[in-house]
Amino acid sequence: MVKGRGASVSGAGIMRGFAFAGLVLLTGASQLWALNLVTPESPPLAVFLLACGPVFLAMAVISIYSRTEMSHQLSRLTKAAERAASGDHSAIESVSGVREVRELGSAISNMSSYLRKNMAQAFELAYVDRTTELPNREFFRKELTRAISKTIRKGSTGALLFVDLDGFKHVNDTYGHDVGDMVLHQVSRRLTNILRAEDLIGLKPGVELAQSITDEEGDESQVSRQMLARLGGDEFTVLLTETREATDAAIVSRRIIDVISQPFDIHGTQLSVGASIGIATFPHDGSDYQTILKSADMAMYKAKGSGKNTYRFYSETLNEEAARRGALEAGLREAVRSDNELVLHYQPKIDLEQGKPTAVEALLRWNHPMDGMRSPDSFLDVAESCGLMPTLGTWVVEEACRQIVKLETCGFPLPVSVNISIGQFEQADFADVVQSILAKTGAKPEMLNLELAEKVLMHNPDVVFHHITILKELGVTFSIDDFGVGSSNLKELCRLPLDQFKIDCSVIHLLDGDEAKQGATIFRTIMAVADSFGYETVAVGVETERQLRIIEKHGCKWAQGYYFAHPMPEEHLHDWLVTTLQGIEAKEPDVDVVDPPSGSQVA
Ligand code: C2E
Ligand code: CA
Repeated sequence: MVKGRGASVSGAGIMRGFAFAGLVLLTGASQLWALNLVTPESPPLAVFLLACGPVFLAMAVISIYSRTEMSHQLSRLTKAAERAASGDHSAIESVSGVREVRELGSAISNMSSYLRKNMAQAFELAYVDRTTELPNREFFRKELTRAISKTIRKGSTGALLFVDLDGFKHVNDTYGHDVGDMVLHQVSRRLTNILRAEDLIGLKPGVELAQSITDEEGDESQVSRQMLARLGGDEFTVLLTETREATDAAIVSRRIIDVISQPFDIHGTQLSVGASIGIATFPHDGSDYQTILKSADMAMYKAKGSGKNTYRFYSETLNEEAARRGALEAGLREAVRSDNELVLHYQPKIDLEQGKPTAVEALLRWNHPMDGMRSPDSFLDVAESCGLMPTLGTWVVEEACRQIVKLETCGFPLPVSVNISIGQFEQADFADVVQSILAKTGAKPEMLNLELAEKVLMHNPDVVFHHITILKELGVTFSIDDFGVGSSNLKELCRLPLDQFKIDCSVIHLLDGDEAKQGATIFRTIMAVADSFGYETVAVGVETERQLRIIEKHGCKWAQGYYFAHPMPEEHLHDWLVTTLQGIEAKEPDVDVVDPPSGSQVA
């Protein structure tokens, strides 16, 4: 720096010297010329001095110009170097100028890419496990620390899975460390595949990532939802953040145990290992790296002690909850497979103008071999989280379509409504599946009504729109379910071609409670929204005469609820319809509303 400044001062001094000498000589010569002291006949030295003035001046001008140009080029180079330092490496390669500047630019460019390469290597050495190419313990420590603080701040939950391979020592001892390393590599590939790829931290060795983690706390917005790391030996960790329920970690653990239990093919030899997994949840089991890692480690030893190839939570309460959910899931799988434990019950929908049942809703029940009839609220969550919902939902649609045909054959051509879940509706082939069920059962599409809760409609409006459009063309109708409790986006609602609003039980129950006035306002508002969209309305959960009078007064078209009938099995539905319709015919023409038949089946 000091040298440079000295060099530039002396360069400027020389230029000033030239200019000064040129000026002195020119002024002196012009004076001499004016006084006629110098003439063409004067001695050559005088003429020479007179000629030197303009030459010196010209040299000074040229020198000042080239200095200015050089300083522009250097300033461009400096700016490009600064941009390269902040990550834009192309800037330095495009610097132009005199040869020296270009050479300097390319030297800086080389130095920059060399540094980049070195930093990437340093990053790999510091944070990447060479055998598996996964993040190592140090990277994991930083990431877990950040995940814990973010989770606590957001008030959500996360889980740490400590995975220890069973039988890995035997592989190492019998086949050698090279084979052991290959197994570890394949384990890491299998684990990476089962954790959703888009949520995994891509370990791209590079400056960006290296820089982002040099700070101990880092940028919390970068914390991923899932991360897989190898701590060393045969120990892996899986970090899950934003879990809906603590027991979600059990689902991931079961998937891990399943994939690790498949044999590994190493050069034609089939090798088997297992996995014992300990799970600690945060902030429940701790709120710092050390405590959570220790809790997960201890839980892993519990899993080893329970016969290996299994998982255990650190918390006993969660172990019990996970065992309960595990048993429920296994039972549900069996129920879906066996096809004789699942049943549909049907609840009539009453047309308030005609005063008679004009449709029914199909409601799922599980006739559990030990617990008896279970309501859908007790098992649908588990079905959804373990991926059973599409199979279960398809069974419901098929059964409901068969019922449409049966009812019509018995002289009751009533449309049947079916509830559709998110997991089911998000299947890419949902519309095809429904179409093929209609074809297979012979049910008329216009007799099938699909009920979608607000949360299903709003989850992915584009997919919803796609399926609805296809099925509506066939004649299938659609209702928005539980309206009034969710948070629908009215703009999205506007574009969906639906047919009915089903007003949630909780709104109807407000109509004759302590908050009756408020309830009536909410009900009126929903009716106005439905009216402006041009939808028909169904009040769900009507239990009292008073509720019925209010909904009628506000022009609600249909009602469904215990006031008329509880959901009932197929065989009772047929009897109920016969009795009710006969009763109506007998009473006509004065009857407005169907009275609940005595002894109607209560589910
Ligand atoms: P939902 O679609 O709102 O169904 C109406 C629920 O209200 C039914 O409960 C029904 O028995 C109950 N209900 C009817 N009238 C009255 C009444 O007057 N008072 C009260 N307190 N409740 C009444 P259920 O059968 O237990 O079903 C609960 C939920 O489970 C359903 O709510 C629906 O969201 C879901 N569900 C039922 N079957 C299926 C199915 O096949 N697939 C899917 N995805 N979900 C289903
Ligand atoms: Ca429903």
